[in-house]
Amino acid sequence: MDLSFLANGQFLHLSRFQPDTFAKQVRGTLANKTTIDIIAPGIVEITPATQADKLIVLSCGIHGNETAPIEICSDMLDEIISGSITVQHRVLMIFGNLPAMNTGERFIDENMNRLFSGAHKIGSSPERQRAKLLEDTVGQFFAKAQGNKEKLHYDLHTAIRDSKNDKFVVMPFLDDGRLPSAKQFGFLAACGVDTFLLSSAPTTTFSYFSSHQYKARGFTVELGKVRPFGENDMRSFAAARASLTALVSEPDFAPAARMSELLIYKVNQVINRQHLDFTLHFADDVPNFTDFKQGTVLASEPGAQYVAQYDGEAIVFPNARVALGQRALLTVVPTTLETLDV
Ligand SMILES: [Zn+2]
Repeated sequence: MDLSFLANGQFLHLSRFQPDTFAKQVRGTLANKTTIDIIAPGIVEITPATQADKLIVLSCGIHGNETAPIEICSDMLDEIISGSITVQHRVLMIFGNLPAMNTGERFIDENMNRLFSGAHKIGSSPERQRAKLLEDTVGQFFAKAQGNKEKLHYDLHTAIRDSKNDKFVVMPFLDDGRLPSAKQFGFLAACGVDTFLLSSAPTTTFSYFSSHQYKARGFTVELGKVRPFGENDMRSFAAARASLTALVSEPDFAPAARMSELLIYKVNQVINRQHLDFTLHFADDVPNFTDFKQGTVLASEPGAQYVAQYDGEAIVFPNARVALGQRALLTVVPTTLETLDV
């Protein structure tokens, strides 16, 4: 099948506005023998003629208003379809919440990045149905890994508020004894990330799902701040885009990390909202990774007061308006990593 109708952003456009175009799977082969399989609206698998050693999931738009990663992925797909990028590895590209992109919102009914690892099973919101489809698709994709092929998942986001550290990565809790990967610190640093947050418990995020379920190296990558489509300063994403392009198109793009230049944090407190009148005790424009003195009250609600337990304890992802029972604030403290995997 001639795939030229997908070029110039049309795959994403049709996925968003005419999803029935992809009600049936579409397959085509490019001049460079790369196979393109459209699995569903917003989900495309790219298979090179000869495959190297990685299976790479690139997901974006799990939150519909986080436009910069969506634009980066759509542009990369255009370059793959036009042949200006030749992929060397299997790639699964996912544009997550298509209806929320169209309304310019984070989500329609609920936060999709709390619905993985089976959390979608109760209820039937659009996000739950989509999370189930994404899980199944990622499972089928990683099932193609044979031997010790490298399984990678970069779930690309932008944050709601400013951050003292513009680009940062949330590293899923490794509950299987694996150590963080030196190679991955190198790659993510090349993307412009200098701050890493080590999770301390299982979650229902997309990257934890791939990490836990398929032993992939999975990451939630925060690339900057939320802005509407067309209003992103793409210069601030140039390093990420170039590195992602090198990752898919080079046999083994593996820049070295200078660990001493990276900021590593571990989660200290996970504060969930239990009451309607949950209050954060700092201003709405306080950036992520702002730190506080020990004893500072960070948040409160009836019957509970949450204070910084250490000097230098910093706040990440504060959001007083999350649904009851969901995370309203993370606090983190600096840490170091003694040992790394390759
Ligand atoms: Zn997000």
